[in-house]
Amino acid sequence: MKINILYAGYCTAPEHIAIQGGRWRSIHFPAMFALLQHPRFGPMLFDTGYSYRFFDETKNFPNRIYRWMTPVTLHEEDLVVNQLATFGIQPHDITHTFISHFHADHIASLPDLTGSRYIYMPHAYAGLRNLPPSEDMKHAFMRGLIPSDFDERSHPVEMNRVILLPKEYAPFTKGYDLLGDSSIIGVELPGHAIGQMGIFARDENDKLFFFVADAAWLKQAVVDNRPPHKIANLIFSDGNVYRETLTNLHGYHLTHPDVEIIPSHCEETIRSHESASHLT
Ligand SMILES: [Zn+2]
Repeated sequence: MKINILYAGYCTAPEHIAIQGGRWRSIHFPAMFALLQHPRFGPMLFDTGYSYRFFDETKNFPNRIYRWMTPVTLHEEDLVVNQLATFGIQPHDITHTFISHFHADHIASLPDLTGSRYIYMPHAYAGLRNLPPSEDMKHAFMRGLIPSDFDERSHPVEMNRVILLPKEYAPFTKGYDLLGDSSIIGVELPGHAIGQMGIFARDENDKLFFFVADAAWLKQAVVDNRPPHKIANLIFSDGNVYRETLTNLHGYHLTHPDVEIIPSHCEETIRSHESASHLT
């Protein structure tokens, strides 16, 4: 499988929010998405980053607060649809999109992917779909980003079809074989958002990648087992569980330093893998 790590837009926030002991200055948090070109299933995405719809959805209150808290920059060439074009891929060619969780910066291009199945942990969405719209902001959820035919194209992870992972995944013990061919293994990474899903995927050079979404905002947080500022607990689904998940990632990293752990918003990590096709 060919794996390209890309991003569609970035927001800025102080580093010390993302990691305890971080600097006070603002840093970039790119909104990563990964293009996974599967030999049998074709092009697939893990998350989608921002799109212009994010700006439409945050024009008015209360969503405008979201834009103020995390100012977003998005260049036209960084749009998912335009980056796919540089690979000769049309948006409707994407066959599967693995959604880590439903925060706006991970799903804003879903409506562009008109031929895709959507794969996510069912409890990640179940609690959001019936929220009164007045609570969307609290959950960083923007229902306008959900495609109108989302339910028809959804293939939520069947949580009862859990597999026991081999020892080399420890401390992660349970996973989900998302395509049935062992090429993409989903694991639950709870704490940041309910039902957040990370995936393991191996590239054509046999390198293993572990996409961990927002279970850590910076790679350094995994390396040092260093959590974000306590204020971040306000937006987490469960701060204590977040801490446990980060500790598991740290343990995994210690025993598997060769595996590429990819937090979705770590600029240093994303730049180190950046595809030559990415223009900025
Ligand atoms: Zn998030």
